[in-house]
Amino acid sequence: MSELDFDVTVIGGGPGGYVAAIRAAQLGLKVACIESRGTLGGTCLNVGCIPSKALLQSSEALYQAQHKLHEHGVKVKEVTFDLSQMMKRKDDIVKKLTGGVEFLLKKNKISYFKGLGSFVDNKRIKIKSSDGKETEIVTKKTIIATGSEPIELSMAPFDEKQVLSSTGALALDKVPAHLVVIGGGVIGLELGSVWARLGAKVTVIEAAPHILPMMDKDVVRTMKKVLAVEGMEFHEGTKFTNLSKSASGIRVFIESESGKQELSCDKVLVAVGRRAFTKGLNLDAIGLTLEKNGKIKIDEHFQTSVPGVYAIGDVVDGPMLAHKAEEEGVACAEIIGGKAGHVNYVAIPNVVYTWPEVASIGLTEQEAQAKGVEVKIGKFPFAPNGRAMAMGEAEGFVKLLADKRTDKLLGAHIVGPSASELIAELAIAFEYSASAEDIARSVHAHPTLAEAIKEAALAVDKRSLHS
Ligand SMILES: Cc1cc2nc3c(=O)[nH]c(=O)nc-3n(C[C@H](O)[C@H](O)[C@H](O)COP(=O)(O)OP(=O)(O)OC[C@H]3O[C@@H](n4cnc5c(N)ncnc54)[C@H](O)[C@@H]3O)c2cc1C
Repeated sequence: MSELDFDVTVIGGGPGGYVAAIRAAQLGLKVACIESRGTLGGTCLNVGCIPSKALLQSSEALYQAQHKLHEHGVKVKEVTFDLSQMMKRKDDIVKKLTGGVEFLLKKNKISYFKGLGSFVDNKRIKIKSSDGKETEIVTKKTIIATGSEPIELSMAPFDEKQVLSSTGALALDKVPAHLVVIGGGVIGLELGSVWARLGAKVTVIEAAPHILPMMDKDVVRTMKKVLAVEGMEFHEGTKFTNLSKSASGIRVFIESESGKQELSCDKVLVAVGRRAFTKGLNLDAIGLTLEKNGKIKIDEHFQTSVPGVYAIGDVVDGPMLAHKAEEEGVACAEIIGGKAGHVNYVAIPNVVYTWPEVASIGLTEQEAQAKGVEVKIGKFPFAPNGRAMAMGEAEGFVKLLADKRTDKLLGAHIVGPSASELIAELAIAFEYSASAEDIARSVHAHPTLAEAIKEAALAVDKRSLHS
């Protein structure tokens, strides 16, 4: 095998791609990973999960100091903040993590090519680096893990100065006076929260009847109330129709059942979703056509219509989440390596990292109703939970849905402190096809937030102890 011959080539070094590369290398395969960004880690580490969580954490610290610490008897004379330090902290975290991924590739003896990968045919891939240099490699199998990009609206093209994508909204050097967020999904609410806590007026426009349209309606009701306290305003069931920019600001035009309206602001964040990214791959060379929504179609083994070419992560169907991409990366590498790779799609948690956080897995109550699945529902609030009270974070609840006949858990929804961590217990429960009774009978340490999960499980059979 020549130096430029590989068993597996992964195009894209995001959470799907780099994880697939590591797993394939662990299985003894000779692996190449191609990434055009200049740093590894993809959207997630560079301009997604990690920088957004860094800013959420910093802005939460500010919010705590301004609004919560006094309840603990902690007196802070004057609370101010330094946005450039917050941004530097975020950039430092990103640098550390992306560098860490590069180290992992080296450690696993994966050849990392910096440049844009494109197919010559289904066994040869050309890599064009930023200085124009071209390298061609030969590969037995290829995994496409090229991820996604923000959807741009024709009426509001990104200029990253006034009209921002999520990437622009993670790198502002000044707090906007008024930020209008188009799209009340996860990214819109997380980034809206950051800027609201830092002092911006934030108005969210959502075309669907509610923000977080895919979430359980109980969750949505609570989140609207909580985010409003943080200073966010919502226009639901409202369409963004156009905007006009001038040096002094932006006029945003919206329309709902109650008529047309105009908002004035200084920044607009367009967060209406993401679409699969396949530009530059030269898919024609291998005869691979895209689905109508721009995604790559795969079979149950992650293989595309072209033998030996696989695809994973945001570029294929399913929730656009880093952990989904990672699990697909592992499963795909295992299948290529001759093992039985598998992803359990019903057990993929979904988190919104606002405060309180939202975390859910499985069916919502509305989905269960629509599917005609009969469920028993157990709900327990954080208000009587000792640990939540001690933390001063008693907002929210745990809601569990169990099959009426078998008691098997079908859905779990948490609004509350550290919901993103609490959902892990329920992800394991889903993985083991646990019943509500299994959770109710498991010993939960006291005092912990997780006791609210146990109480919700007890409430499924109307025997919660602390309500
Ligand atoms: C603001 C924001 C916050 C988010 N927060 C979360 C979160 O909290 N939790 C979560 O689970 N998900 C979150 N996501 C989503 C998450 O980032 C994605 O689901 C995840 O990154 C997808 O992984 P991937 O490997 O499929 O693709 P990506 O991470 O998009 O990686 C694909 C990589 O391929 C590279 N590439 C593309 N074409 C080529 C080519 N031809 N040659 C070489 N390289 C190429 C790209 O440069 C990119 O680096 C967030 C996203 C955003 C934007």
